[in-house]
Amino acid sequence: MPCLYCGKVTWQFKSVVRAGAGKYCERACYILSMKEAGLAPRLRPRHKTESEIRQGRERASVKGIWRGMLDRCSRRSNPRWKDYGGRGITVCSRWQESFESFVADMGSRPPAHQIDRIDNDGNYEPTNCRWVTAEVKANNTRRNKLLTAFGETKTLAEWARSIGVSPRTIGSRLRSGWSLERTLRDPISSRHSRAAKRLTTSSESIREGGDSAA
Ligand SMILES: [Zn+2]
Repeated sequence: MPCLYCGKVTWQFKSVVRAGAGKYCERACYILSMKEAGLAPRLRPRHKTESEIRQGRERASVKGIWRGMLDRCSRRSNPRWKDYGGRGITVCSRWQESFESFVADMGSRPPAHQIDRIDNDGNYEPTNCRWVTAEVKANNTRRNKLLTAFGETKTLAEWARSIGVSPRTIGSRLRSGWSLERTLRDPISSRHSRAAKRLTTSSESIREGGDSAA
């Protein structure tokens, strides 16, 4: 059969084109023939390279991050709504409108990084967002706001660990209006005797540390 473009006769036509497969001897003949007819060639997509596949996956995962961000700020039934939309965290209109703008502003995501708001009470917008590791992010969450006492600054979780009580105990004392110093010094009820013993021992060392720092 002769090629419809160049007339070359071949037995085996290359199946390089989706439309008109088997009628042209080469991809180039098909493209040129379409061009001359003023038509757009419909080409079968070529195989993706490794790096294109990686880029595609990366783009999909960044898109998932983008969608998640929009969802927890806008959909009341999102399980995390109360920490986001529910407390007034919004996504800037530029990012709401376009995933491409989000990608352009955030830049490429380093491996295993997540989106983080620098100011945890601030919104999702270019000046308040960055890519961070899970570890950095965990230290920047609202729950882990930094607390200073006895000349030392730690997260609530770190204070709790260092004096051997649950973070919940510290949190509930702070919420009921105790100062952080009193919260950390005051022995906890004798019901929790083991924890109380740990607290006494370590709160003394904290007090010493505090005195020497003062
Ligand atoms: Zn040809």
